[in-house]
Amino acid sequence: MTTSHPWHPATLAVRAGAEPDAETGAVAPPIHLATTFRHGPAGERIAGYEYQREGNPTQDRLETALAALEGGQAALAFGSGMAAINGLLETLAPGARVLIPDDCYSGLRYLAREFLPQRGIAAVAVDMADPAAVEAACAASVVMVVWVETPSNPRMKISDIAALADIAHRHGALLACDNTFATPVLQQPLALGADVVMHSTTKYFGGHSDVLGGALVFARRDGCHDQVAHRRHITGAVLSPFSAWLTLRGCRSLPARMAMHCANARALAAFLVAHPAVECVNYPGLASHPGHAIAARQMSDYGAMLSVLVRGGREAALAAAGRLQLFTNATSLGGCESLVEHRASVEGAHPVSPQNLLRVSVGLEHADDLIADWAQALG
Ligand SMILES: *Cc1c(COP(=O)(O)O)cnc(C)c1O
Repeated sequence: MTTSHPWHPATLAVRAGAEPDAETGAVAPPIHLATTFRHGPAGERIAGYEYQREGNPTQDRLETALAALEGGQAALAFGSGMAAINGLLETLAPGARVLIPDDCYSGLRYLAREFLPQRGIAAVAVDMADPAAVEAACAASVVMVVWVETPSNPRMKISDIAALADIAHRHGALLACDNTFATPVLQQPLALGADVVMHSTTKYFGGHSDVLGGALVFARRDGCHDQVAHRRHITGAVLSPFSAWLTLRGCRSLPARMAMHCANARALAAFLVAHPAVECVNYPGLASHPGHAIAARQMSDYGAMLSVLVRGGREAALAAAGRLQLFTNATSLGGCESLVEHRASVEGAHPVSPQNLLRVSVGLEHADDLIADWAQALG
């Protein structure tokens, strides 16, 4: 069950958590930097707040906006996307089992490899694009959380959220969905049956490559939400009010930016897929993509992330990345500026990406300039 709202996402993005300041009428929200809030002599709360780590007005505005945009009953902001992922997974008891995607954000892979086992939690990598494989993994042993990321990083695999929600629920598990690449503007996992949505708000929400943050959005304000909120308060993986404010500012233009990001990515993908120096383009908007039909059903557009397999292997891919001028060689995504990254070079001690794969975050420059840059880089 999700919380439906009469407004379109573009309206919610501008209006949610944006009420004028009650005290001054300021249309732009104030940033409350206070770490502590006056209370009565016996600790009685006066305005609802006590200490910044537990909760604060700027964060409340951001959480209101995030919950509204994802159609959830509650949201919790964290200091980073990884803190948000860990914020949910650290509530699992020793002996628990989670399924993670075989293609996913490398931080989750490292969490699953290095830290979850220390807490007695087993993480099993499964092809989330294959519901039969997920069904088999759920049938093999008790699973507490099925974690999906769609589109996935960096291969842009598409998983059927509604089908996975059904499988997870039949086996008594929660479905958590990393919605960073799609954003709620393009895909709303809670409406498709997911229980929790996770974001690295560092990416499209922030939108300007200048603020780190993460969030969990819960379909229900239930015991799971309360436990994660309590842990965040006690363990301190919180966002600063200034970061909350910047992220909230990013929300306002998110739908407008996503429309242009998507249009640019579509144009670039069409150019790249027809280029003789390109072996394959992973972009769910292409009819040739294996997840295209599911993406067309569960997304309103295909996003602005793609990966390119360059003919000629590692050396050819690195040469192209080196020649690009409008695509800065840098990690991360979702900012106004276009980025490119040879993933295998930056995946740490255990790289999994193909050596000829370049991941591309398509920015907000003019599409013709972006295409011309790839044309000269591929030669
Ligand atoms: C960046 C990212 C994360 C991690 O978020 P941080 O804010 O960097 O901690 C998780 N998932 C995806 C898909 C990401 O792109």
